[in-house]
Amino acid sequence: MLLVDALPELAEELHELLVKDGRPELASQIPVLKIVDRCRCGDYFCASFYTQPKPNGSYGPGHDCLELAPAEGMLILDVVAGEIAHVEVLNRDGVRRRLLAVLP
Ligand SMILES: [Zn+2]
Repeated sequence: MLLVDALPELAEELHELLVKDGRPELASQIPVLKIVDRCRCGDYFCASFYTQPKPNGSYGPGHDCLELAPAEGMLILDVVAGEIAHVEVLNRDGVRRRLLAVLP
């Protein structure tokens, strides 16, 4: 499932924030980014999702965290070897509702 199909508004927002942040190489991944699974932690404020298969344990070397500055909530990207692997989305009710609808 493509992020742009499942969450078009969030995809656009991520793209804009990455361009603004001077990360065009990450912004260019957004249109082809796939949602592999959503986070199953069950926290009511969590709308995070995986865009690469979930690692066994923690991310290894080459892992980078990039915190963006959205107008609402929190957005943090986990980047592994230059590829967006996980998008942490917190305190975004609209995104969470939509994510739960497409990935029960
Ligand atoms: Zn979670």
